[in-house]
Amino acid sequence: MNLCDIKTVKQVMGMFHLTFRKEFGQNFLTDRSVVEDIASECCEASNGTILEIGPGIGTLTYELALRHRKVIALEIDRGLIPVLDYTLKEFDNVQVINEDVMQTDLHALLTDAFAQGPVSVCANLPYYITSPILMKLLESKLPFDYITVMIQKEVADRLCARAGGKDYGAITAVLNYYGEAEKLFDVPADRFLPAPKVDSAVIRIRLYRDKPCKPQNEELLFRTVKAAFAQRRKTLTNALGAGFPELTKEQINAVIADCGLEATVRGERLDIAQFSALSDAIGALITSA
Ligand code: SAM
Repeated sequence: MNLCDIKTVKQVMGMFHLTFRKEFGQNFLTDRSVVEDIASECCEASNGTILEIGPGIGTLTYELALRHRKVIALEIDRGLIPVLDYTLKEFDNVQVINEDVMQTDLHALLTDAFAQGPVSVCANLPYYITSPILMKLLESKLPFDYITVMIQKEVADRLCARAGGKDYGAITAVLNYYGEAEKLFDVPADRFLPAPKVDSAVIRIRLYRDKPCKPQNEELLFRTVKAAFAQRRKTLTNALGAGFPELTKEQINAVIADCGLEATVRGERLDIAQFSALSDAIGALITSA
């Protein structure tokens, strides 16, 4: 069965009396070479487990199952479960679970998988919930090797941006704390059924085993990043002033100078290591107050 063939996708949906559910971000991939490339490039190891989020009718799942030891697929739409039983029936290395990934206890789900080998995530993500899913995966602190996801191109450009670039934002800086993102390739909107309004891209995040920066207080690091980008057009001094009302302007100026930064610098120029140093200096002031 060729699940990338548009006629086949429509036939399978019709067989199970299903329609594409917009509220679940159901845009199914119909380009075989894109599906094969994602399944091959999502991680280096083939002896591990892949956690797939949103298998849909099983198009990507099928190619993952051919290439990896085990696939665990979480699908929110109950209507698709019998479809997946049908399209993936030849595999005994696929476990489909009817669950909302945002409600799933990933630690409990993946304990055995991590005991048996490397685990990576691979998904054509539902666009309505891209950032919450990515943040859940990163904040879980589970030692995934890679997180490879198809997302909106605009979001992909933001996540892969460099400090100082026009697409660089708070989410880029936070992602850089956990790992390194690279764009693998763009995918035009007409490679999906139904076609979404915007183009997509596949990015691969390699998670750090040993983080290059080690802030004394993670929460304070994220608060510092948020403050810097909340007032993007303002200088860092003014942005931090608004984000840390408990500090005086003189204290903020001193912190910025101590970190070797210009008084007029804007937050969007700072990389995550510089944010980490800033947050440590702010933390020292707050705790001594
Ligand atoms: N993997 C398939 C493909 O590439 O053709 C389908 C991708 S489609 C963009 C997103 C899939 O995620 C849909 O099957 C949708 O039902 C599922 N989904 C949406 N929200 C979800 C959630 N919170 N948890 C698990 N699956 C979800």
